[in-house]
Amino acid sequence: MSAYQKMLVAIDLTEEAPQVLEKAKAVCSAHGAELVLVHVVEPVGYAYGGDIPMDLTELQDQLDKAAREELGKYGDQYGVAKDQQIVTVGRPESEIHRLAKEHNADLVIVGSHGRKGFQLLLGSTANGVLHGTECDVLAVRIH
Ligand code: AMP
Repeated sequence: MSAYQKMLVAIDLTEEAPQVLEKAKAVCSAHGAELVLVHVVEPVGYAYGGDIPMDLTELQDQLDKAAREELGKYGDQYGVAKDQQIVTVGRPESEIHRLAKEHNADLVIVGSHGRKGFQLLLGSTANGVLHGTECDVLAVRIH
C-alpha cells in the first residue's frame, strides 16, 4: 500500500470530534501526510424550510463565525495550519465531496456517527460521504 499524502478530516464540532481528530492525527503522522480540517455549517434556511420570510443573513454569519472560532481551537490544538482549516456552508456530505476533490485528498476521515446518528452503525453524513467520495474513506468508530 502506498502512503497517503493528503488527508481531509471532517468534524461536526460535537464532543465526539476529538475522537475523530485523535485518530486522524495518528494516521496522518504515521503516513507523513498533510491534514486538511473541515467543518460544514448547514444553512439556517434548511431548519426553517424556507417558510418564514425572514432575513437570516445575520444569524448565518454568527453561526459561521462561531464555527470558525471553534474549528480554529481544534486546529491549533492538533497542529493543523491555519490555511488548512476550512469552514464552509452547505450540505455536509456534498461539501466534503467537493473539498476532497478540490484538495486532492487521498483519504477522507469522518466519525462513524455524530450526535444525529447514534443508533445507526454508520450515521447519515458518514454514509453519504462514503457513497460519493472517489478516494478512500476512514470511518472512525465513535464510542
Ligand atoms: P453523522 O453521520 O451526521 O452522524 O456524522 C458522522 C460524522 O460525519 C461526524 O463524526 C463527522 O466526522 C462528520 N460530520 C457530520 N456533520 C458534519 C459537519 N457539519 N461538518 C463536517 N463533518 C461532519
